[in-house]
Amino acid sequence: MRELGEHIVRPPRSLLETAKDWSAAPSSPPLAILEPRSSEEVSQVLAFCNRLQIPLAIQGGMTGLVGGANSMPGEAVLSLAKLNRIEHIDTTAGTALIQAGVTLEQLQNAAEEHDWFFPLDLGARGSCQLGGNAATNAGGNRVIRYGMMRNAILGLEVILADGTRLERLDTVIKNNAGFDLKQLFIGSEGQLGVITQLVIQLQPRPTARCTALCALDGLTKSTQLLKLLKGVLPELSAFEVMWSDYVHESARLQGLALPFQAQYPIYVLIETLGHDLSLSVSAVENALQQALLDEVILDAVLAQSEQQAQKLWSYREGVSELLTALKPCAAFDVSVSLPKMQALVLDLQEELTNRFKEQHHLFFGHLGDGNLHLISGPYPDPEDLHALEELTYQRIAAYGGSISAEHGIGVVKREFLHHSKSKEEIDLMAQLKKLLDPKSILNPQRVIPS
Ligand code: FAD
Ligand code: ZN
Repeated sequence: MRELGEHIVRPPRSLLETAKDWSAAPSSPPLAILEPRSSEEVSQVLAFCNRLQIPLAIQGGMTGLVGGANSMPGEAVLSLAKLNRIEHIDTTAGTALIQAGVTLEQLQNAAEEHDWFFPLDLGARGSCQLGGNAATNAGGNRVIRYGMMRNAILGLEVILADGTRLERLDTVIKNNAGFDLKQLFIGSEGQLGVITQLVIQLQPRPTARCTALCALDGLTKSTQLLKLLKGVLPELSAFEVMWSDYVHESARLQGLALPFQAQYPIYVLIETLGHDLSLSVSAVENALQQALLDEVILDAVLAQSEQQAQKLWSYREGVSELLTALKPCAAFDVSVSLPKMQALVLDLQEELTNRFKEQHHLFFGHLGDGNLHLISGPYPDPEDLHALEELTYQRIAAYGGSISAEHGIGVVKREFLHHSKSKEEIDLMAQLKKLLDPKSILNPQRVIPS
């Protein structure tokens, strides 16, 4: 490895330097840590490792929730941390050319400095990287209005396992000249290539944000609320549902008072992003008034300041505290069509509480996208984790849902992929992997079942 140069390769400083993502999946000390600083160096590293068949764990910000970036025995780490330059922001077209190791928050701030807006947002914004967001096709809180990471990517540069550089840094949305190859790499969890640069479409910067928290007596009402709000609030940018246990635990861990005097089964956090505060406020007030009259909601609080808005968001953002406090826990990110959501949740709540009495089962999610999250823990031993996953994924499959709406498959869900993909689809995934990475040096033994 010395051939690659000392500024690229370094030994782990200690055995403790074994980066782990946020899942409970294991991680082993890597053979070496490779830290290229440019696309050329990534290409050099990959050509070298491919020649010698050195398997690599591709690491972004390590905020993944499925163990995909954790290093396994015998692997070296390829870290994107030093590819952290924002190369250019086109202030006329609203596009950003960035290296893959730029963090989500870095881009959000840079966009804002140039009077633009990058709407993708998730709790891990301070650490996760845009390359990692692309590799997992991250979703987050504003998909209902702006779509997933895939929708924000205009161009991509990818280095293949043998070092071949595919540079397609388009700055326009329309390009039908042959296959749109970038789509193959978005959401492929580092199986098919290493993302090194991205062109991102920014959005006009909203200047008026309205946030409200609503109290409801059941999930069915939340789908009615969603329909009502979509009809009258074109600026609706978030519709986050939280079950009461989630809000109570999140509030307790953060030392927050509960949002209402009474307790309710369901809470919905809504946000609009617009350009005229008084218009936005009156639109939201009218919509909530209508929802109260129709008995779709039982109570609501509309934030009167940015500080209050942040407080309302804190209940939802308590996810990091919950993931830490409930360790070891399983974090599920499933999706199912809205008409089936209520039955699925009731079914899961009953089965999980019967079977795993001692642990919390906290439900929340981006309901506008049919995306349900569940944090379940702390589980007493690894056997329980397996039973918990099997039970949950079987139920999801029975309702025709997906075992991953957001976080991907990694190692954690690999053996459950058959619940959401047919044999023929899994075979095609394996063939694509073989074609692009014949020696299987990129994140081997993840995503595709053996
Ligand atoms: P890593 O964790 O480093 O890697 C994730 C996967 O991508 C691995 O398989 C890795 O090998 C691969 N990878 C990373 N970089 C590259 C690259 N440049 N090229 C090729 N492959 C690469 N996800 C959502 O979708 N929505 C949410 O709302 C959400 N909220 C979260 C909240 C918290 C508190 C946390 C901890 C995580 C959350 N996530 C969410 C999980 C989400 O997948 C990650 O936060 C993020 O998208 C991963 O980025 P990362 O840079 O940390 O990637
Ligand atoms: Zn999510």
